[in-house]
Amino acid sequence: MFENESLYDEFYIEYFSEKEEAELNSNTVSGAVKEAIKRMRLVYFKNLGVDCDPFDPNEYDRIMQSATIRMLVPSQKLIKAVKKYREIRYEEAQLLFYTECDEFIHQFDKIPFSKNVIVPLYSRIKDNTVCVTEGSDDLGFLRVLFFAIKPFTLGKIDFMFLHELVHAIESDLIDGIHACGFEGLELNAERSEVNSKYRKYERFNETVADMLAIEVREKLIEKGIYIAEDEKVWIRDVYNFNSHSILKKMVKPLMDNYRDIVIHARISGDMDAIYYVIGKDNFEELNYLVSHVDYLISEGLVAKLDHNLDDDPLVIEYKEDMEKLEKVYERIRQLNEVPGL
Ligand SMILES: [Zn+2]
Repeated sequence: MFENESLYDEFYIEYFSEKEEAELNSNTVSGAVKEAIKRMRLVYFKNLGVDCDPFDPNEYDRIMQSATIRMLVPSQKLIKAVKKYREIRYEEAQLLFYTECDEFIHQFDKIPFSKNVIVPLYSRIKDNTVCVTEGSDDLGFLRVLFFAIKPFTLGKIDFMFLHELVHAIESDLIDGIHACGFEGLELNAERSEVNSKYRKYERFNETVADMLAIEVREKLIEKGIYIAEDEKVWIRDVYNFNSHSILKKMVKPLMDNYRDIVIHARISGDMDAIYYVIGKDNFEELNYLVSHVDYLISEGLVAKLDHNLDDDPLVIEYKEDMEKLEKVYERIRQLNEVPGL
């Protein structure tokens, strides 16, 4: 390692890599980038004892005329080895930096966890991910929320925080699977038959998490509590954020009538409690309909509804879904008029 090099950035020697060589020969790479590469290469030569001026724009092309200098150009094998070694050492240094600093130790000294969760914790902090970690040890599941503020969230940071908090409260390790709300979040979790971009219960789950977050948010505001932002920037309308209000309206009768059972099931992972009162088939169909309407919304349903395009295929499908939804709720009502059925 030479003076002024850090594990965080490419070492001078790495500027001789194939990637940088291709950039030097490319017609689309800017002159400034090429000059920077040449300057770094000159600094490398200078560190090896070559008398040269890295800030002279003609210096690089001049000294490369010399066969002796060209012999100093490192091999690709050496460059790759250095790069790999630097990156490994950087990871190790970051891990030490995050996990041995006072803040980390203070935050976690009240939670009894073993050393093997430090790496998952660190990876979440490093990647700035908004998530609940499923790191666990002999004592069980470790429920930790890392909340990273993302771009374009001004005015609704509290909403996002509460939404993530709902996930954190609902998260647990059940039979070795990280469960959260209606979902088990194993890597090969079943995909939605409507939109394979999502897990099977993901959009339904997200809609309920949004509804609970909105409810808490409204209560906090009644009390004049603004978690993260001043009232001036606070955005009132988060009803279509993450999940559209159409979806929330679809789920509302379920929440209005079976709120406690839904929350119990989401926290405990005991889906049987929900199936018992509303029926598994009804639950599955509700999930399907929410996922399907969500898909229609992503295809442009809302604008078509706004323009009363009743004959549009999307609108027709939406209306069919609403009729099916009405029937699902009707069946749920019948089921509960006769307890035990
Ligand atoms: Zn979510």
